[in-house]
Amino acid sequence: MYSQNVDFTIMSTPRSTLELHRQRFHQEGAAHAAPARVNLIGEHTDYTGGFVMPMSIGFHTTAIISQGPGGRIFLQSENYNEGKSFSTDPTTWKATHQWSDYPMGVLWALHEAGIDVPPFAMTLSGDVPLGAGLSSSASIEVATAMALLAHAGTGLPLEKLAILCRRAENAYVGAKSGIMDQFIVAGGVAGRSMMLDTRALSFEFLPIPDEARIVICNSMVKHQVATGEYGSRRDEVEAAQAALHAANPKIELLRDATLADLDAAKSKMPEAEFRRARHIITENARVLDAREALLKGDLPRFGEIMRAAHISFRDDFQASCKEVDDLVDIANRQPGCFGARITGGGFGGCTVNLVQTAAADDFVNALRAGYKQRTGIDADCFITEPTDGALALAQQAAAQMQGTQKGALQ
Ligand code: ADP
Ligand code: MG
Repeated sequence: MYSQNVDFTIMSTPRSTLELHRQRFHQEGAAHAAPARVNLIGEHTDYTGGFVMPMSIGFHTTAIISQGPGGRIFLQSENYNEGKSFSTDPTTWKATHQWSDYPMGVLWALHEAGIDVPPFAMTLSGDVPLGAGLSSSASIEVATAMALLAHAGTGLPLEKLAILCRRAENAYVGAKSGIMDQFIVAGGVAGRSMMLDTRALSFEFLPIPDEARIVICNSMVKHQVATGEYGSRRDEVEAAQAALHAANPKIELLRDATLADLDAAKSKMPEAEFRRARHIITENARVLDAREALLKGDLPRFGEIMRAAHISFRDDFQASCKEVDDLVDIANRQPGCFGARITGGGFGGCTVNLVQTAAADDFVNALRAGYKQRTGIDADCFITEPTDGALALAQQAAAQMQGTQKGALQ
């Protein structure tokens, strides 16, 4: 069956993980959490200065932190049921192509930024589907960063936090992700999507009307950003950007280019790069149109833009797959569905669907049945709403703590 999101309360959800941490490390831990995200529109635009429109959603990674049992670093993953220990000497920290690269990458990025974290033990656990395009990677990075910063007795504002976590993923893990994931996972706000200008790092929160739900559907086809074709698409986009810049130095980032600029430079790049760039240029325009539609509360228009975005991703970016195309096709035929498209890096993962609230349950049932019939796969579907990001969750936890302390004093 599909699951509906349950509100995350920082004091209650990680209780069992806190208990596991206590049993394993004989220390009382402090809980820090970061959500997952879904991108409504603006795919692969976030590393060439473009626009994106993600929202944070009610799946979370929790990082429990305390002093360690000895002068070393201890990491425990509940998801992988595995523990690892590392020296505190940064010169020994090297990527090993395992889950621990994500938290160690954040520790390394903090060290590089001049923030040294005292030895610690950390237990990580999460309900974010891994490698499904909902950014479990940014979720574990930001949860880890929140925990390590608190353990070091400091904090970082949104922009610095997002840049630091992206650095961990790019330079330590070795995955070429843009800034969107870390930004929304850290800075999301309940009830709102975020339109982010990834060059200026300026952003605006946009309302998601109550008459619509965002339904996420996992095709169950796995992608892996660190090793997959995401990187090769990114290379093609960057090559097209370089060709456009060479043709016209005023075009610094693909974000600056128009379709006319691209047509003028067509002979300067292979067909594949031309198509990748055409997707990015039209996608940036679609994000701006989607913003207008949301501000007007025009959900049918938003849905139309989503459908066009999927076609561009499938045909120009060529980063969809048969199963995901099936999911989108079935979704677009359902009553109450304004529009559907692939979300995330591509080559599998999830679709995002804008659906009338009253039709959402029937939509999920019909979509699952249709997908099962066509592919034999049971898809996981989630009816979601935008939730708070890690910084808002931390603020709430601090306020809750203050309230508890005040209550104890009275
Ligand atoms: P996505 O971000 O779409 O989920 P990625 O390939 O970018 O996919 O990141 C998935 C990887 O992040 C996992 O393979 C794992 O290494 C790491 N990861 C995410 N969440 C956790 C977790 N709770 N515990 C351990 N590792 C995690
Ligand atoms: Mg990721």
